[in-house]
Amino acid sequence: MKHPRIGLVDGDIFTLTFASDCMTHSCRCRDEGDSQRDDACCQHGADVLVPEKAAILRRAGEIASVLRPQWRQPATWFDERAPELDPQAPDGIILRTGLVDLEDESSGCVFLQHTGARGCGLHRAALVHGFDPAEIKPAVCRLYPLSYDGHRLGLSPDFDRYSCAAFDGPSVYRLMRGALGEMFGAPLVRELDRVESNVVKRKLRVVVAQAT
Ligand code: SF4
Ligand code: SF4
Repeated sequence: MKHPRIGLVDGDIFTLTFASDCMTHSCRCRDEGDSQRDDACCQHGADVLVPEKAAILRRAGEIASVLRPQWRQPATWFDERAPELDPQAPDGIILRTGLVDLEDESSGCVFLQHTGARGCGLHRAALVHGFDPAEIKPAVCRLYPLSYDGHRLGLSPDFDRYSCAAFDGPSVYRLMRGALGEMFGAPLVRELDRVESNVVKRKLRVVVAQAT
């Protein structure tokens, strides 16, 4: 890749497909006997950087207004018991969103505890109160099912765990192209478009060679 922040990209993002709409997909956990669980990818919560926590707290009133009464206290929103040390992260640590039960790592992110039908409560708070969800949604959540480690853009490590992966829909890249542009800027999207075109041409050549 010719980009200052992303040197490598996983070619699978251009060819593997993904469910196009989280709000209507019936999520299933492939690694748990295909059990149905809406918003399954949020069951363990998410990484939160210190500035992301501050952004969430700046909108505490709006967020609390969409959460169920027992989850309206910001003190319940983050798990700061054992921050991951990361010298690359702001303040050198990575926090986690809170869980419904801090002793059960699959009990679900606290921000699923809102009064709407399903989906992320942070996203819902932004829509209800008329501001951009990107202001408060952690970057890892905005990027899912992609992940970025500071150099490489690829599929999230738990990509295959849920039924939305390889589901009938657009390629992961096409689905996430707009979000990538918002997060990394138009030059990255131009570069990814160029790589996508090469990957798709190469795949077509392989398909034609296999058919002849
Ligand atoms: S990314 Fe997959 S598991 Fe997560 S909410 Fe969307 S469809 Fe469900
Ligand atoms: S912050 Fe929102 S998108 Fe991220 S894990 Fe929690 S509910 Fe899911």
